[in-house]
Amino acid sequence: MQKSLLTLGLLMASSTLVFAQKQDIEKKFDGKEAISQFTYLASDELMGREPSRPEMKLAYTFIAKELEKAGAKPVPGANGYYQDIPFKLSSPPKTGNIKIGDFSFNQGQNLLVLEGTSFSGKFELVDVGFGSAEDFAGKDLKGKIAVTNVGAPNKLSPNQLFSEGRAKAVRAKESGAVAIIERFNVPSIPWQLISGFLNRPQMSIDMGEVSDMPYIWVEDLKNQLTGQNLSSAEVSITGKVTTDIEGKNVLAWIEGSDPKLKNEFILLSAHYDHVGVGTPDAKGDSIYNGARDNAVGTVAVLNAAKYFAQNPPKRSVLLALWTAEEKGLLGSGYFASNPLIPLNQIIYNLNIDNAGYNDTSIITVIGLGRTSADFMIEEAVAEFGLTAKADPSPEQGLYDRSDNVNFARKGIPAPSFTLGFTAFDDEINKYYHKAGDHVEDFDLNYAQVYWKSYILSAQKIANWDQRPMWQAGDKYEEMSKQLYGK
Ligand SMILES: [Zn+2]
Repeated sequence: MQKSLLTLGLLMASSTLVFAQKQDIEKKFDGKEAISQFTYLASDELMGREPSRPEMKLAYTFIAKELEKAGAKPVPGANGYYQDIPFKLSSPPKTGNIKIGDFSFNQGQNLLVLEGTSFSGKFELVDVGFGSAEDFAGKDLKGKIAVTNVGAPNKLSPNQLFSEGRAKAVRAKESGAVAIIERFNVPSIPWQLISGFLNRPQMSIDMGEVSDMPYIWVEDLKNQLTGQNLSSAEVSITGKVTTDIEGKNVLAWIEGSDPKLKNEFILLSAHYDHVGVGTPDAKGDSIYNGARDNAVGTVAVLNAAKYFAQNPPKRSVLLALWTAEEKGLLGSGYFASNPLIPLNQIIYNLNIDNAGYNDTSIITVIGLGRTSADFMIEEAVAEFGLTAKADPSPEQGLYDRSDNVNFARKGIPAPSFTLGFTAFDDEINKYYHKAGDHVEDFDLNYAQVYWKSYILSAQKIANWDQRPMWQAGDKYEEMSKQLYGK
């Protein structure tokens, strides 16, 4: 009798506690204010939150003010609430032509000038194979142009082509070369597709001096240039314009309540940029408001800041609103390479990114099933009457296409907490990167449950007596061991 009463009492106490956390979030969550943040961020005034547009300033100052108002503190080493990022916007040249032997290459057709300044003249060519460090070793390229194949053996994905290219440009510069021309000869990547995509202004992180180095691709799918012993090139590249853009990640933090666990951080993040102004839709609307992608996620993080500043969990909370996700995950990538909090103190990242939703009874968690913390997300959303479901469209590669991957690659468990979708279907495509991605037709009851269940998920994980781990055998598990030293 005594014992069972005690058990009953304990059971009641623990379920009351769980219930109490949810109740507390319900009570303190200001739905009206959250909706007004949502409405402002996705308003026409912000012109689609494109990082090279002047209206981007409205977005980041608003976010910083909301974080300050919430009571979250600036991160040491940041510029107030900002991490400044040196972006550059590089436009294709007005004209670009290169003659090598009998071959003629023209900008936008079979030539792409991707980086650097205008330049013209006749230059000697030096073939450096794939342009590895060994390939460049001992070669004097002073005043000459280095010619290489794109990528490296077994490194021929689009991402790898760029990262390898960047490394080669550094080597070419160090060897005294004036430019680098890469033979694009990857049959698996359609040249038309990639040249269509790249023959327009590109935003990237300014790499300083190397950025001035002309970096050029010529189409060579038939390997006509390979092994031809071509000795020189006549180059004429004019009207290449590069503009500096000041990028801003918006960051803040909340100190944890536990004297020991507060040295560990849970990173709550979402990108706040979107794609700006584009082709008008049938209604003549040309502003891509990005309510779903990703104003809704930005609001989740702002309200998590507001709640946790008043109710700090045991672990510290790092709040991050990334810029330039749509330009290739640039803002989060910059932080991952230049972290203001040591990455091995960031034990988990609950990121948000969204395309849309087609099922308001679920929360889709991109990466569900890959870490030991998943059950807490399942519990948290269940308390709000929702079911957590894994990514239904693995073929879209969503996990590796958003900001979370910059942290997963470093070893940090990093799922994305997204609006419910059961397939990447017409209902999603209706809004995904479309001018019609507005707040007006968003189910605002669902938005509020989404925001609150995100806060509860984060709270459970930030208070957990264990550190989240990757499931054994996950492709990022090994990096995790290196990062955390286990
Ligand atoms: Zn997005």
